[in-house]
Parts: sequence; C-alpha cells; structure tokens
Amino acid sequence: MTTEMLGGMTDIRPQMIVAESPKHDLWHTALALLDDVAARLKLEPGIHAMLRQPERELTVSVPVVMDDGLIKVFTGYRVQHSSARGPYKGGIRYHPNVNLNEVRALAALMTWKCAVVGIPYGGAKGGVQCDPSQMSQDELARMTRRFTAMIMPIIGGRRDIPAPDVNTNAQVMAWMVDTVSMLERKAVMEVVTGKPVSLGGSLGRREATGRGVAISTEELLKRKGQHLSDTTVAVQGYGNVGSVAATLLHEMGARVVAVSDISGGIYNPKGLDIAAINKHVEAHPKRLLEGYAAPGVEKVTNDELLLLDVDVLVPAALEHQIHADNAPFIKAKMIVEAANGPTTPEADAILNDRGIIVVPDILANAGGVVVSYFEWVQDLQAFFWDEEEVNKNLHRIMVRSFKEVWDVSEKEAVPLRLAAYMLAVGRVAQSVRERGIFP
Ligand code: GLU
Repeated sequence: MTTEMLGGMTDIRPQMIVAESPKHDLWHTALALLDDVAARLKLEPGIHAMLRQPERELTVSVPVVMDDGLIKVFTGYRVQHSSARGPYKGGIRYHPNVNLNEVRALAALMTWKCAVVGIPYGGAKGGVQCDPSQMSQDELARMTRRFTAMIMPIIGGRRDIPAPDVNTNAQVMAWMVDTVSMLERKAVMEVVTGKPVSLGGSLGRREATGRGVAISTEELLKRKGQHLSDTTVAVQGYGNVGSVAATLLHEMGARVVAVSDISGGIYNPKGLDIAAINKHVEAHPKRLLEGYAAPGVEKVTNDELLLLDVDVLVPAALEHQIHADNAPFIKAKMIVEAANGPTTPEADAILNDRGIIVVPDILANAGGVVVSYFEWVQDLQAFFWDEEEVNKNLHRIMVRSFKEVWDVSEKEAVPLRLAAYMLAVGRVAQSVRERGIFP
C-alpha cells in the first residue's frame, strides 16, 4: 500500500454529509476540525475521505410498552466511526435531542479521544431519542433491553463496546449485559463497560471522567505556575462528570465557587461547601441542586455561571454551551472541557484570540474511556485490580497524554485543541496506512 494509492481519490467530500444547521450542528463542528487538521498534516486525501465518513451507521426503531399499557416507539442509533485502531468504543446517550448527526459527531470524537490517550480502540457512539426524566425505571429497563437487542448484531467485546454517557449509568449497562448474556446464552461481561462493580465493572470507573478532568486541570495549572490553592473554579453540569470533578478539585485545594445543573446554579465567591452540596444532591429525588441554600450562596443561571470571574471554567454539561454570543464575555482564563463538544468553532476562535487556554474535550474528559479500557482488560482476564491500581494507571496515562499534547502545541505553536487533533488524527491515519485498505 503506497501513500499514492491512499491519496489517489480526488473527491474527498462524498455526498453523504448534510449538516442540518451548519452553525449549531456538532457533526459540522467535527468535520470542520478534521478538515483543518487534515490540511495541516497534509493527510492523504483518501485517508481524509475515510475519516470524514463513519464506517457504519445503524438506526433502529425501539417499541416499548409503557406503564400505561400503550406502545411508544423511540428511535435509537449506533454509529461506528472508525475501527482503524481497534474495536469501536463509546457511550450510549438518552436525551430528547439525540439525532443522527449528533451521534456521528460524538462517535468521531471517541475515535480521536481513544487515539490521543493511546488506548487500542476505534470510536463509536449510540443514543436513544427519549426523555428519561419522564420515564419510570421499568420503562427505561424495557427500552434499554429492546435497544440492546436491536443493536446486538453490531456490538460485542471484540467488535464494539458501549458504555454510559449522558443520562445512562451502571444500571443501564447492567441491563445491557443481561440482555446480551441471555440472548447469547453465555456470560459476556466485556460487551459493555461502566457496569456495576458487582457485575464485572471496575473500581474507579464511575469517578474516572471527573478524575481525569481534575488531573488535566492540575497539569495545566502546573504549566502556568499556578497553585490549586490560589485557583477558583466554576463547574457547569453536576452529573456524574461535573460533580466528581468539582469534588476532587475541591479536595485538591481549589476554591469551587459555582456549580449548576438543569435546575439552575449556585455561587459563593468565598467557595462552596461541596460536601454539603453532595449530600443535598444525594437526597434529592432527581439528584439535583434544586432547593440547596446556605449563607452566602446566591442563585445564578447556567448562562451567568459561564461568565463568572473565575480562573478555571469547567463546562461539564452538553455540547455548544460556549458560543459566539457568550465567548467574548467569558472571564475565565482557562477552560477545561469535561463535556463533549461544549465549544462551537466560532467560540473557539474567539477564546483563542482572547488568550484563553482551552483543554479540549478529547483530552480533558478521556479519563472515562481510559478506565473503561481497564475494565475491559479486567473482564477479558477475569482478574480485577484494586482502586489504587486503577487510579495510578489513569493518572499515568492522563499525565503522559497531557504532556504529549502540550509538547505538540508548543512545537507547532497551535492551541491545545489543534495539537490534540493533530496527534489523534495522525495516529489514526498511521494505523490506516499500516493496515492498508481491505481487501
Ligand atoms: N461516554 C464517555 C465518553 O464520552 C465514555 C465512553 C466509554 O467509556 O466508552 O468519553
């Protein structure tokens, strides 16, 4: 296989990609970034064309008997972007806004994320368009089982390994493992990661994404010569990622001054009592910040939180929260992207011009998939590690990856996002070259 052969294709923009609304579509964002990086890397047009298009996309209809006895039909997706570096890997999201272009983009982000931290996976993503907040546990279980059965032809421990994402968790993964194991008539724990520890899950997996965010923040501050104890932090999103990131950063000595979730935000410039907030959230029926009050704590909206005068802003909610309209007014000096795709390309350019450093999602939030990898390795060997071992290895990989991205950023004089993409796309392209094109 020669470079010439891979570059032989002239039309690098096959007709399939139709972004729904160019400015606010995550897939459009993902493609624009890839095109930019491909040009910088002088990527062979053939490889560029391959990476512009997911390898496989499955749309499924998911009928569910609701508690009232009526049938509701949900739409689900599993998109497999690239298998160049190993089996496909990526989470499953339950959200009303799930759509094919979003899942495509999130699948591509997984390809780059796994490559940038050097774990042996490709990238995939799945989702069901639904509003889990309006569904009972029984309805969620039935929807999960039917969805799993529908995507079973393309998933598997050596094929494509789902995991939790927005509004899915260890319980959802347990239903998936059970469904696949029953249908295959054997235990297939390795088919998903992020499972309960009692079912082949890994210690430290639930906290892993937030822990990775905290480690990335620490690495960034070190390079800026700033101490955590002199650092204020605001976290948008208080789910599995944001709450753990806030808790760990607080424990590491930072002053977490604001947090928010779908119910709104809270702010205390002197620092929030994170332990008390976590207690409140655990006791809340929907695990929300709603109703939390304490002396010195003011209410803020999600939009206001993003504009607070803090050192580090951690967007840990959904995509495109930082956009052209609010980016000019962001006061944070550093942004650590815990969510996937929280910054639009327009906002990214504005932040860059304003000298605000952004640690990109594919690096900052990679801790989750790194410990998913450890979980998978443990499942395949049926030999489990203690939490210390998990956290030590996570720390090692995050620190190494941060350094590699930082070094490229310095050497090429590009922002961290471009550096991370250059590393990631370069690694995936290398695998494609080495494998060649089947047949
Ligand atoms: N959903 C997480 C992410 O976006 C984790 C994926 C995984 O563990 O496979 O990175």
